[in-house]
Order: sequence, then structure tokens, then C-alpha cells
Amino acid sequence: MEKQTVRDFDPQGKRVLVRVDFNVPIEDGKVKDDSRIRAALPTIKYLLENGASVVLMSHLGRPKGKVVESARLRPVAQRLSTLLRMPVPITGDPLGIGTRDAVARLKPGQVLMLENLRFHAAEENNDDEYAKTLASYGQVYVNDAFGTAHRAHASTVGVTKYLPAYAGLLMEREIQALSSLLDDVKHPFATVIGGAKVSGKLAVLKNLMQKVDSILIGGGMANTFLVAQGRTVGKSLLERELVDDARQILEDGEKSGVQILLPTDVVVAKEVTRGAEHKVVPVHKIPNSWSTVDIGPQTTEAFTQALEDAQTIFWNGPLGVFEVPTFGDGTRAMGRYLAARAEAGATVIVGGGDSIAALEELGLTDKMSHISTGGGASLEFLEGRELPGIAVLMDRETAAVA
Ligand code: ADP
Ligand code: MG
Repeated sequence: MEKQTVRDFDPQGKRVLVRVDFNVPIEDGKVKDDSRIRAALPTIKYLLENGASVVLMSHLGRPKGKVVESARLRPVAQRLSTLLRMPVPITGDPLGIGTRDAVARLKPGQVLMLENLRFHAAEENNDDEYAKTLASYGQVYVNDAFGTAHRAHASTVGVTKYLPAYAGLLMEREIQALSSLLDDVKHPFATVIGGAKVSGKLAVLKNLMQKVDSILIGGGMANTFLVAQGRTVGKSLLERELVDDARQILEDGEKSGVQILLPTDVVVAKEVTRGAEHKVVPVHKIPNSWSTVDIGPQTTEAFTQALEDAQTIFWNGPLGVFEVPTFGDGTRAMGRYLAARAEAGATVIVGGGDSIAALEELGLTDKMSHISTGGGASLEFLEGRELPGIAVLMDRETAAVA
């Protein structure tokens, strides 16, 4: 169902409480990657330009209900301030008296950021009192934190009991892009799945199975499938308890006419570390004491060929241990190929923190049709589950006026 968005109320003179996902990597007190901050700018700017005052709230890291100095949001506020070219003051404590006063003093066109919501355990416990206090800082609530929408927390679910709740522009874009894969997708629809483990992606694989025409499996998770096919994978990462599930997926693919491609050759290394001895071998010749670290050139060729006709492609998970540049050929080749396909008009959607990091290294994120800011959230969405933080936003049909 369609959700109401920031465009469905008049922000003029309103104090708007906005949940953003500013859970960004911080290094030496500086924001290392500000893409999540930039992704929220359209919503923040829209509200400010239309006469609202904005109270931003986010979590950062896993402080687990305690004040942790390294998880303070100050570097984030500084970066946002640079991007918005205006001061972004930050309050000491989401529950403090100072926060209440600062909110009361806020004027239209001004922004304020609350300190890390997870400095209180009440956030993740979806505590009602906490939610009520947060809600008291605004007259309207906007959720633009797609990356946290799969969590029922005070700031994503609890607050909506007290305020009319709208989707932000990023949230809207994420829902549209990912729904398009589940609803009226253009065929052929292919998915490229990689990354370390099958376990985190089993549910999404099963759901996508019903929608896609082909599935290309690489990365560490391919090992479990190779074993299901009777191969041995040496010292490679393997989830033995999931071999049966992998076999089931292969059988289901066979039955329903979904083409499932596995690597036919792989790069193996003596150690999964920089500088380790490595070579390309066919998958039936993976040496006993070696580990797979990338797909091989023949596989890369077969994968890209299999994608040639695809109108829609969803990619999640690197095809090798791309953090070690020598083991990143397959991932980089896929990134470049998909960028070219997107430029040629195919819909290419990429999700997953590591896959996106790989694309960023290549400078290719802008070429894709959509890059999801949510890792876990985008996978749960594609599993066909309704995310709690989205469920509570007002539907377009049952519009209540704020
Ligand atoms: P994403 O964040 O894009 O969803 P994942 O977190 O599922 O991706 O997986 C990323 C990790 O998978 C990377 O750290 C990468 O090194 C690892 N990986 C990829 N291929 C292999 C492999 N053959 N063996 C071990 N780990 C792998
Ligand atoms: Mg990851």
C-alpha cells in the first residue's frame, strides 16, 4: 500500500520530528562515508525550505543503552552542517531538560539534532515513555530511516502512537525501488547474490526464487551450493548445516525453470589474506587446504553473458573477498558490467553494505538505478515481509490530516 509522504502535509510553521539513519562509519572523530547523510538531504531541505523546523534523531553504532564517547553524533552533525551550510546544534541527551528547551527555541528553517538515541536502552526496547518524550519534540513525525525500518524501536514505531507519521523522500524512494522488484517487475529479472554466508540470505533467496528468471551465486555462499552438488571446497568458508537447504533451492530452480548459475572456476588462496599464494582452478579441483576467495574468469564471463538480456537486475553481496584487491576481480568486473547495463537502460538495484562499498571504490554508485541505503532492511523487504517501521506510516487511502 502507498504511504503518505512529506509532500502530503503543509510543513509551514510546523516542528517536524525526523528519524534519519545516520549510522555512518566514523574514524578518528570524522565521518568516513557520508552517503547516508547525503541520502537524507532531500527530505531535510524540503522541510526547511517549506517553513518547518526540523528535529533530527538517529542512532549510531551499538552503545547498548550507555553513553559511549565514540558513538556520539557530533561528527555527524558537523558533516551535516557543512552539507546544509547552516549550524546543526546537537543536544546532550535525548531526555535532558536542555533538549526540551532547545526544541522550544527552534525557529522555522532551523535544525536541531538529538544525541544518539541508543544511549538509552529504551530506544531498542521500544519503550512507550521514551517514545512519548521523543514525540513531544515534534508536531508531525517523518521517517526517512529506511535502513532501520526493519526494527521496531521507540523512534521508528513507538512515536507513531503519538504523532501523524509520514514517509520521508528517501523512504519513499526505497519503497518504490524495492517494491518494483516484487510487484510489476520487467522480465527477464536476474539476481546476483554473493557475500559470505547463505544463512543471512536464505529467506530472500527463497522469496526471489518465485520472481526471478535466473539466480547467479558467487562469493563465499557459493561454496555451500557447490557442496550440495557433490563438490569439495577445501578450507573454504562453508555452512555445512545449510547444504540441504542449498540442494533444495537447486531442485526448486530445476522444477520451476529458474536458471541457477554457480561458479565453474574459482580463485583459491592458501590463506585468505593479502599477499597469499593464489591460483585459478575449476570447481572440481579445489585443493584440500586452500580456500575460495573469488570467482574465476570463466565464471565472470558466464555470469555477464547470462545477464545480457536481463531487464531488471538485483545485486547483493560481493563475489569474492574484495577487501583484498587481488581477490576483487570478480566483484569489480560485475560492478562495471552492471553499471554499463544500467546506463544502457536496464534497471539495476544494488543492496548490501559491502557490495556498495565495492561500487564506491570503483566510483560507480551513481550509475546504478537505485542503491539501497538499507542492508538488512532491504533484504527483509525483499523477503516479502512488511517492515515494522513502514507498516506504521499512514497509508495514502486512509489519509488523516495533520
Ligand atoms: P553485503 O554487505 O553486500 O550484503 P555480505 O556482508 O553478505 O555482503 O558479505 C560480504 C563479505 O563476504 C565480504 O567481507 C567478503 O570478504 C566476503 N566474501 C565474499 N566471498 C567470499 C569467499 N569466497 N570466502 C569468504 N568470504 C567471502
Ligand atoms: Mg555486509
